[in-house]
Amino acid sequence: MAIELPELPYAMDALEPHISRETLEYHYGKHHQGYVNKLNAALPGSEFEDSSLERIVRNAGGSMFNNAAQIWNHSFYWSCLSPNGGGRPDGKLAQAIDQAFGGFDAFKTRFSRLAGSAFGSGWAWLVQEPDGRLTITTTGNAGTPLTSDDRALLTCDVWEHAYYIDYRNARAGYIDAFWQLVNWPFVESNMR
Ligand code: MN
Repeated sequence: MAIELPELPYAMDALEPHISRETLEYHYGKHHQGYVNKLNAALPGSEFEDSSLERIVRNAGGSMFNNAAQIWNHSFYWSCLSPNGGGRPDGKLAQAIDQAFGGFDAFKTRFSRLAGSAFGSGWAWLVQEPDGRLTITTTGNAGTPLTSDDRALLTCDVWEHAYYIDYRNARAGYIDAFWQLVNWPFVESNMR
C-alpha cells in the first residue's frame, strides 16, 4: 500500500505574499514529495508494508521514521495555513490560550521566541496535553507529537527549506509571515 502525497489544500500561489509559489513548489513539490518517494521505496518487504502512515510514525525507527514523520508533519503544517488565515482564534481555543499563556499576545510572543531559537532543523508546536492544558514544544529534525500523548494543534516548520527562498536566513521574518496565515478554525478543530 503506497503512501500518497496529500493534495495541497490551496493553490501554489495562494499564500503569497507571505510564502511564495516558488517556496511551495520546492517545499511541497520537492521536499514533501521526496519524503513520500523515499518512504514508498523503503516499504516493500518491510514490516510496515501495509501500515497506515500514523502506525509507521509511531512504530518505525531510523530513516523509515524520519520520512514517515516528515510526511505527517508537512501534511499537518499545510493544513495549519490558509490564504484566509491570520488574525486571532476565538471560542474555546482562545479561552484555552488565555488560560495557559495569559493572553494571545503572550502566547504569540512565546511561540515566536521558541520557534526562532530552536537550533537547527525542526518544528515548533502548540500541543494539548492529556489533561487538556495547552503548551508549546519544539522537536528536532522529524520529531513529532504523534509519538507522544500530546495532541498536535498547530505547527510551524522551522527547517531552512521552509523560508530560505523568501526570507534567506531571516527566520524571524518567516515567523512573522506565518502568523498572517494561521488557520485558526483548523487549530481549534484539533482540540480534544
Ligand atoms: Mn519542511
